Amino acid sequence: MKILIVNAGSSSLKYQLVNMDTEETLAKGLIERIGIEGSKLTQKVNGEKHIVEAPMNDHVAATKYMIEALTDGQHGVVTSMDEIGAVGHRVVQGGEHFTTSVVIDDEVMKAIEENAPLAPLHNPPNLMGIKACKQIMPNTPMVAVFDTSFHQTMPPEAFLYGVPLDYYRRLRVRRYGFHGTSHRYVSQRAAAMLGKPLEELRLITCHLGNGSSMAAIDHGKSVDTSMGMTPLEGVIMGTRSGNVDPAVLQFIMNSEHLSVDEMLDILNKKSGFLGISGVSSDMRDVEEAAEQGNKDAQISIDMLYRGIKKYIGAYAAIMGGVDAIVFTAGIGENSKELREAVMTNMEFLGASIDTEKNNVRGKETDISAPGSKVKVLIIPTDEEIVIARDTLELVGNKA
Ligand code: AMP
Repeated sequence: MKILIVNAGSSSLKYQLVNMDTEETLAKGLIERIGIEGSKLTQKVNGEKHIVEAPMNDHVAATKYMIEALTDGQHGVVTSMDEIGAVGHRVVQGGEHFTTSVVIDDEVMKAIEENAPLAPLHNPPNLMGIKACKQIMPNTPMVAVFDTSFHQTMPPEAFLYGVPLDYYRRLRVRRYGFHGTSHRYVSQRAAAMLGKPLEELRLITCHLGNGSSMAAIDHGKSVDTSMGMTPLEGVIMGTRSGNVDPAVLQFIMNSEHLSVDEMLDILNKKSGFLGISGVSSDMRDVEEAAEQGNKDAQISIDMLYRGIKKYIGAYAAIMGGVDAIVFTAGIGENSKELREAVMTNMEFLGASIDTEKNNVRGKETDISAPGSKVKVLIIPTDEEIVIARDTLELVGNKA
């Protein structure tokens, strides 16, 4: 069966068509500037690019162009839309409603809409993508895969904030966590690499990219994670602040005469590496600036190293030890400097890395030093394959 994976943003739509017999990606595409002048579709098949520039006023128009590109006689990979057996949609916030991926029906769509206040930037465009695909492909089964559902196994002591419980009971204010598909994927791969069942392992997974989150995965279940009710919490990120004393916000807002929205914009878009280094939100630029002697850039990097170390220590304490630490996503997979710095002085935990083995980028590798009790692994993440596999599992025999 061929499965289409869709990740719809407010003005963009990413897609990928996967042949599930081989798990091979047949085509990958990005539609940008939906509803804005200059809409553009870029599709890649076997490294070859096919570009379509045409007005796409909404997600329905974009979806039509996506199907046209996939079925195009010259640049396409299928002869008709009917060859697409199912669509798997990435949905950011499933709230407490969804503990697993689900087949999309009217009730599911209503629940995604109800969760929108918890993820106002993400759920509405995700839903627009679902509605557009349903309109264009009314007979194709669709599945929603949530970023949050993997973390629904967290106990209350991990997901509650120390604010009056009433806010949780009435407003569902709590930690949800994100990057669930990535933490799930790398934890399964870690078990395979270690040749042990996931149910026997205590893992700390470090998803370090533009957005970063850490997770404690105890015997296959997420028991804690660093992102919170929104993706702002946790370690310092590209442009997000990570943890901040909430009272600091009142102080800054009063001193600078800022509204709540302005303050949140600063926390989401102008903080993190960008705000501290003053250079860039991109780790490569920040590392380069630090190498050239920019002290602020070095401090921003050191803040990330320290943040990761603190979570590793905390999660090992919570789980009563750790069997493996996993590095994934853009920074985790690529920055040997980060992995080396984070894993320095971790012998007390029984963890050390081999610097030679660590000299690698983006490749599944066990970088533990010989004799390291705790294994240290690099595992490139693959959120798309998780979405495709869940979709196949849920609709495979019905399509
Ligand atoms: P992601 O959100 O997973 O795509 O990750 C993006 C982040 O990974 C950016 O901060 C990039 O600078 C970082 N990244 C990608 N390649 C490298 C690299 N070779 N060394 C350091 N950081 C990298």
